[in-house]
Amino acid sequence: MSAMAGIYFHIPFCKRICSYCDFYRTALLKEVPQVVDKMCEEVQKRADYLHGEKLTTRYFGGGTPSLLSLPQLEKLLDVTARNFDCSAVEETTLEANPDDLTEAYLRGLKQLGIDRLSLGIQSFDDDALRLMNRRHTAAEAVAAVKRAQDAGFENLTIDLIFGVPGFGGQKLEQSIRTALSLGVQHISAYLLTIEPNTRFGKMAEKGLLKEISDEEAEAEYLLMHNTLTAAGMEHYEVSNYALPSFRARHNSHYWDSTPYLGIGPAAHSYDGRSRQWNVSSVVRYLAGEEPESELLTDEELYEEFLMTRLRTAEGFTREEFAVRFGQKRLEKLERATRPLFDEGLLRQSDNRLHIPPEKLLLSDRVIGSLFDL
Ligand code: SF4
Repeated sequence: MSAMAGIYFHIPFCKRICSYCDFYRTALLKEVPQVVDKMCEEVQKRADYLHGEKLTTRYFGGGTPSLLSLPQLEKLLDVTARNFDCSAVEETTLEANPDDLTEAYLRGLKQLGIDRLSLGIQSFDDDALRLMNRRHTAAEAVAAVKRAQDAGFENLTIDLIFGVPGFGGQKLEQSIRTALSLGVQHISAYLLTIEPNTRFGKMAEKGLLKEISDEEAEAEYLLMHNTLTAAGMEHYEVSNYALPSFRARHNSHYWDSTPYLGIGPAAHSYDGRSRQWNVSSVVRYLAGEEPESELLTDEELYEEFLMTRLRTAEGFTREEFAVRFGQKRLEKLERATRPLFDEGLLRQSDNRLHIPPEKLLLSDRVIGSLFDL
């Protein structure tokens, strides 16, 4: 049906652990070579997963993929090219930590065909970076972006975090302006959540850090939205902004239900009907533990549809909803959405039902209220 698919490589290693992070990652860097070899094996083993679909995107995420050496990345790309049709690849992204991006490394990445870098910068405020336990300073982050541009990268995205206690208002605005002044094509902006098993979680427990209020979060979200859209960026998904024609293609696969294969510890895969996920443990991954698999029920497909589509600025049309879930459910949806329209949380434009971008921060609430129809 769909003539495209993505491949995702999860590199779950970090040199240093950020204060807010509760993703699966490890600082056991000595395991990197074995994990890369095991991932190459996994690519071969799962060569049929995408049923011969051409790959359109490749993505190295983490963790910190820029901890891989050029030969390690090359190995993964080579085994992928031998097992999948890469003739239609239109985007290859690598998430990178600014201080890994030396000139030589950048040149090598380019030669390998990596054409998009995602820089985990988070903030251009040194105090905020220290609080978050990031490896780089603001000046180092700026220099890394410039080096990448000098090396010929014309599709750069940076991650920013908002909602860091004590770093809203002018400080946040300054960070956003610095990001814009660098001329990057894409920005992902995430609201900080303080999770229990993180350094921030422990600080919050001891009363050393206080999560910002919902009102402050909304104000920071709007500051982000207003500043970036005024600079010509489209706010096309709850956390994502892009200049026209620079939307993240790989990530868009997740939002429009395109199949993708995830390789490496803790990586997830989706074939259009079922989901697989690899074990979140390097040791058990190396021991050859098989991915777990789950066939999505009709109810889960419905929830998944809402969760992905309503987080995008485009939303969905009634026709496509009716084709997937039937006329009866559409009628129920119509009834359930009435109050949301009244509250301004849903809108219809060009025949598409969607959450207005300035309200996307509340998307979980809107989506939750449409489950169980
Ligand atoms: S770099 Fe990313 S994965 Fe690693 S500790 Fe920081 S937030 Fe977590």
